[in-house]
Amino acid sequence: MRLFNTLTNKVEELILHEAGVVKMYTCGPTVYHFAHIGNLRTYIAEDVLEKSLKYLGYRVERVMNITDVGHLVGDGDNGEDKISMAAKREHKSSKEIAEYYTNCFFDDCDKLNIKRPKVVSKATDNIDEYIKIITKLLDDGYAYISGGNVYFDTSKFPKYYELSGRKIEDLLVAVRDDIELDKFKKNPFDFGLWFTNSKFDNQELQWDSPWGRGYPGWHIECSGIAIKYLGEYLDIHCGAEDAVFPHHTNEIAQSESYLGHDWCNMWVHFGFLNDKNGKMSKSKGEFLTVSLLEEKGFDPLAYRYLCLNSYYHNQLTFSYDILDGAQKAYEKLKNKVKLLDEVGYLQEDSFEKYRELFKKEIEDDLNTPNMLTLIYDVLKDDTVNSYTKYKIIESFDCVLSLSLFENEKCVVGDDLEDYIQNKIEERLRAKKEKNFKLADMIRDELLTKGIKLIDGRDGTTYKLL
Ligand code: AMP
Ligand code: ZN
Repeated sequence: MRLFNTLTNKVEELILHEAGVVKMYTCGPTVYHFAHIGNLRTYIAEDVLEKSLKYLGYRVERVMNITDVGHLVGDGDNGEDKISMAAKREHKSSKEIAEYYTNCFFDDCDKLNIKRPKVVSKATDNIDEYIKIITKLLDDGYAYISGGNVYFDTSKFPKYYELSGRKIEDLLVAVRDDIELDKFKKNPFDFGLWFTNSKFDNQELQWDSPWGRGYPGWHIECSGIAIKYLGEYLDIHCGAEDAVFPHHTNEIAQSESYLGHDWCNMWVHFGFLNDKNGKMSKSKGEFLTVSLLEEKGFDPLAYRYLCLNSYYHNQLTFSYDILDGAQKAYEKLKNKVKLLDEVGYLQEDSFEKYRELFKKEIEDDLNTPNMLTLIYDVLKDDTVNSYTKYKIIESFDCVLSLSLFENEKCVVGDDLEDYIQNKIEERLRAKKEKNFKLADMIRDELLTKGIKLIDGRDGTTYKLL
């Protein structure tokens, strides 16, 4: 599997720490407002990436955080906490704000067929983890206390500028407007690990710590949650391109200083969704939500289709005309697929051939536009019967998740192993009862899901096609 790696600025082979297992961390939303469709482009891409890896046969352990504390308005640790700001705006508690917008986020994900990662963890649920990491960073000289706050000392981490590929002078120019100089910092890009009262005005969310009552900085949550749930090594870390600096840069600095070794080799970043004014952003005030698209008569899955039709690393400019075009193409595709036979004889060779082609597109830097094109190739192929077309496209849709069929059956991922073992046992029972017809039906059913049973002397094993 090859992906565009921000760390090296090129498409590279994914090298795993443990064969067959992908440990994947994806930064979650800051739940102070509705997610806009730009944020959701990133989550669609991560969803397709996770499902694609599972399609290739990997076990994916994916973790996502929910930022419900610590994300300040300015990236340079300036401004108010975004959640506290929303609580004031809406006359609610911070907890109510976070809960409400977390639910809204997952409702949007449901509408877009974005599967919830197996582990989703709130920043506020892992305070002990951050305290443990910050304590060690202080002990080892990577952090310092100043003005009541704890800061990471970027001068102690020589690789600090590696991910962004930029020099300190360029960064200073690039982010000048955003960085309000904090007089407590030793170096301009040092960042807050723990804030005490010098940084908030009666902020509701506070915890006791060895450095006083306060709250964690934004970046530490992702290192804390990733290390807690996925261990010392990550295989893939994802986010949108704005996360490269400072968020992911800071995650690397604190994680590697804490762990004492490299942390993650593959950093995958998704291009922005832009509108006519540039990057769509919550802070600009006006942004598009899934509900708004629905109100205007669009199917959320037409938006998913639109996103899949562009390469993940490139920026994508949104307009209603483009969405309208995507909706028309998507509806046409659904109508074509509806005509396919749901029962019939499976042409195994064609089924395997197209699955292989689909895998090639996945492996070649997650080429979702080509993955979509392959559906049209299947539909046009005169040598493939209607039922086989149905089964091939159904299998693709386990990854693309466009709900192309009404009664779609997808088993990928976490439940796959249990599912297969149950089917193997069911088939064994059928054989013992001399019900060979049922046994064959079970074998064929698995085959249509890309699972080939292999009968050997020691029992039945399987291969993922
Ligand atoms: P936030 O909720 O602001 O923390 O953002 C959630 C995710 O959406 C982060 O990974 C951001 O980098 C990403 N994001 C923010 N704006 C955009 C955009 N216009 N297009 C794509 N992704 C975005
Ligand atoms: Zn993060």
